[in-house]
Amino acid sequence: MTDSAAMHTVSVLIPLALPGPYDYSVPPHMSVAPGAIVRVPLGPREIYGVVWGDAEGAAPPHKIKPISALCDVPALAEELRQFVDWVANYVMSPPGAVLRQVMRVPAAFAPPKPLVVYAASATRPEKITPARQKVFDASAARGAMTSAELARVAGVSGSVVKTLIKNGHLTAHELPGDITFDTPDAAHHQTSLSAEQGEVASALRAAVQAGDFSPHLLDGVTGAGKTEVYFEAIAQALEMGKKALVLLPEISLTTQFLDRFEARFGCAPALWHSGLSQAERRRTWRELAENRISVLVGARSALFLPWRDLGVIIVDEEHDGGFKQEDGVIYNARDMAVVRAQLAACAVVLSTATPSLETYVNARDGRYQAHRLTARHGAAQLPEIELVDMRTHQPPRGAWLVPQMVARVGAAIERGEQALLFLNRRGYAPLTLCRACGHRYACPDCDAWMVEHRFRKQLQCHHCGHVEAVPDSCQSCGETDKLAACGPGVERITEEIIGHFPDARTVILSSDMGGVAAMRDAIERISAGEAEIIVGTQIVAKGHHFPQLSFVGVVDADLGLGNGDLRAAERTYQLLSQVAGRSGRSVDVAGFAMLQSHMPEHPVLQALASGDRDGFFEREIMAREMAKMPPFGRLAALIVSATSPDEGMAFVRQLATKIPALKGVQVLGPAPAPIARIRNRYRYRFLLKADRHAPLQGFIGDWLRHAKPRGSVRLSVDIDPYNFL
Ligand code: ADP
Ligand code: ZN
Repeated sequence: MTDSAAMHTVSVLIPLALPGPYDYSVPPHMSVAPGAIVRVPLGPREIYGVVWGDAEGAAPPHKIKPISALCDVPALAEELRQFVDWVANYVMSPPGAVLRQVMRVPAAFAPPKPLVVYAASATRPEKITPARQKVFDASAARGAMTSAELARVAGVSGSVVKTLIKNGHLTAHELPGDITFDTPDAAHHQTSLSAEQGEVASALRAAVQAGDFSPHLLDGVTGAGKTEVYFEAIAQALEMGKKALVLLPEISLTTQFLDRFEARFGCAPALWHSGLSQAERRRTWRELAENRISVLVGARSALFLPWRDLGVIIVDEEHDGGFKQEDGVIYNARDMAVVRAQLAACAVVLSTATPSLETYVNARDGRYQAHRLTARHGAAQLPEIELVDMRTHQPPRGAWLVPQMVARVGAAIERGEQALLFLNRRGYAPLTLCRACGHRYACPDCDAWMVEHRFRKQLQCHHCGHVEAVPDSCQSCGETDKLAACGPGVERITEEIIGHFPDARTVILSSDMGGVAAMRDAIERISAGEAEIIVGTQIVAKGHHFPQLSFVGVVDADLGLGNGDLRAAERTYQLLSQVAGRSGRSVDVAGFAMLQSHMPEHPVLQALASGDRDGFFEREIMAREMAKMPPFGRLAALIVSATSPDEGMAFVRQLATKIPALKGVQVLGPAPAPIARIRNRYRYRFLLKADRHAPLQGFIGDWLRHAKPRGSVRLSVDIDPYNFL
């Protein structure tokens, strides 16, 4: 920055979707450096912003307003500002929209307010319920905590804690500021690793020690102990006084991970996910900005926290589609983690049993260092996988499970083990129709069928959430008792299996269970062996460790293969191999998986049955290479939506006339999106296909420069699309 001019001005980036930073003057008494968080006037209001650099000089001097205040919080590191600019450029969002990911917790920019924490008082209530006892146990183990933390650590509802406070059994103390987080201890409990694990752990430790950017693929079969191994990379960072970030999909469901972390490092890590209270986020953001958090486990947005001294970033289950953020700033957190690591000059470890094809190719071609774990920990064995040809083996009329599948479930529970039936479909039935007139129940606002949820007696649209009561008579012809449920969802499979084993304890695991806490609870009870039969959607596939689970039955292995998108085969392989991999994870139970399919000769299913993952990947890679599809070419989608088809079409046609000509970039479309209407918005899509090194972003920038969506029209760009709906 120059301060030769009489009036010192700087550019300030504001966390809003504006084209760029604005210039502000720095009052004489104030001294600001790039990265400083400041208050600035914007129109009639005042807003937080970040000093981005030298003045742009675009505004006439008399229009430049002064910065109102400098916030008492550490400035954002250069590395983070570079990351914001990099992401904005790559995903083609305004930098302010990306900065908003960083500045989600404005309360953190003010000095901390006194914090009220609670500890057990000398008196105990007359009636000690198990829930109350949990609160006292938590308080004894962890000391004073805020009421929200106390409830969470104890695993009870907030009202239990409130009552104890009201009756004087918990007393309030005021702390001057934020409570600091416990510091994980690298030497707390050294895990004794197998030879294979030890070798990989040393390699990762060396990479962290090098203190430079290096990307790694930790490729280990399900149950290999990948977590224990990457814990060593974290330990190395801690020993060097550096920080570690672990990105997990579905972090709010994973208490198992937290328990294991605590066993290894002696305390819980800091957390970052959408389930945290505003106060917890504030404290976490602030403590991290003050460089007092050494390990944080978070969802994708944790990449945008004000990290300093990062030693390692871990992306667990790197293949997981949940890392793709699909609205607002559309980005893939797995890819951005690699960028973040590069800017921080640290190691990044992508961990999985079923790498994404992109990562697999990066490792194969030497851009990522690959580390393999080929065996399950201890004497546990990988499950055997058997295919059932549904063309020759049929379930009884009105049923969905073949007799040998039911027999396997029976045998597992007879041995005192658990069985899992997997179907990636929520609810009772995906389609309801009237047998009298053929009317099919569709969502009024989307081009989608209403899904029956029989336990809740509702029809629900899975795209917009619209619900209706299950009608008594047909909407269209008025006939009663003629509604037919078509096809199975998890509820229907549950009904069927309960019919076979009425005395077994059967639970459904799906996102319809009523909140994250209920799901987390169910997962814990399943791990503790409190259920014999589990019927689940893809939630069961996410890294859970169910030691008693020996049999996995896949109701419809063909489900994901039909939709014909780029990643159909890859994703189906990943999902089914993760699901099958839930079985046989401890020494005393042998795993077995059975897949019902109408096309068992399909290469994905053949690869699963033979265990030839790499052969399948190589063939898939060849096909992608020939078609110049990712990672051998690049894709981007342009999605236009509007509240009327006319408005949408007019804009799309106008766009189509302006497509620039550039060698190496091909524009397909416009076409109605596969789901042509969601929430009453009509949707159209262009798909862009580019050579690997073509300037795709530049092309899109040129194209859209003069396209101004008006009225109800919205336009979004999805670079490296993952969903094609
Ligand atoms: P992955 O993530 O590779 O599927 P996990 O890290 O979940 O595997 O490990 C599977 C199980 O084996 C876990 O219960 C874990 O605690 C255990 N385990 C793995 N390695 C070791 C080890 N070296 N010592 C003790 N237990 C281990
Ligand atoms: Zn809908």
